[in-house]
Amino acid sequence: MNYKQHVMIGLASAGIASYYDLTSYYELSAVYPFQQGLFHTGLYYVGAIFGSLLPDIDHPSSYIGRKLPGLSKSISKLFGHRGFTHSIVCVAALYFGLTELKEQVPSVPALGITIGYISHLLADSLTPQGAQLLYPLQVRLFKPTTFMKKLLRR
Ligand SMILES: [Zn+2]
Repeated sequence: MNYKQHVMIGLASAGIASYYDLTSYYELSAVYPFQQGLFHTGLYYVGAIFGSLLPDIDHPSSYIGRKLPGLSKSISKLFGHRGFTHSIVCVAALYFGLTELKEQVPSVPALGITIGYISHLLADSLTPQGAQLLYPLQVRLFKPTTFMKKLLRR
C-alpha cells in the first residue's frame, strides 16, 4: 500500500470519527475539533495525515522513511517492516506518549495522529502481506479482503 492510499484512508477515518463524534469520547480530545473552528479542524487533519504515514517509518524506502533515513534504518534493523510499528502495543505507546506530552502536543493534532495511525494499521492488516498487530506474536488477525486486493492493484 503506498503513502497516498494511506493518507486517503487516514483522512477518511478522521472524517468518519468526527462525523460520528467518536472523538469526543477520546481522552486526548478534550474538545471536539470542529467546535474550535477551521484552524483546529486543519490541525486535526494534518495530524491524521502524519499519523497515517508514521507506521511506515520502519521501511527506509517509504515516504516518511526517506525523510528520516537514519531513524528509519535503525527501526527497520530492530523490528523489520510491519513489525513493532504496526502493532497494537505501538499504538498504546503512542497514545500514552501523546497523553504524557499533552503540554507540548495539543490534543487536537494528537487525536488526528492517533486516528491516522490506527487507520494505517487496519488498512495494512487487510492487505495480503498483513501486519503484526500482536507483535512479537506472528499472528494475523484479519484476512485480506477482495476490496483491498482490488485497491492495491491500482
Ligand atoms: Zn504500513
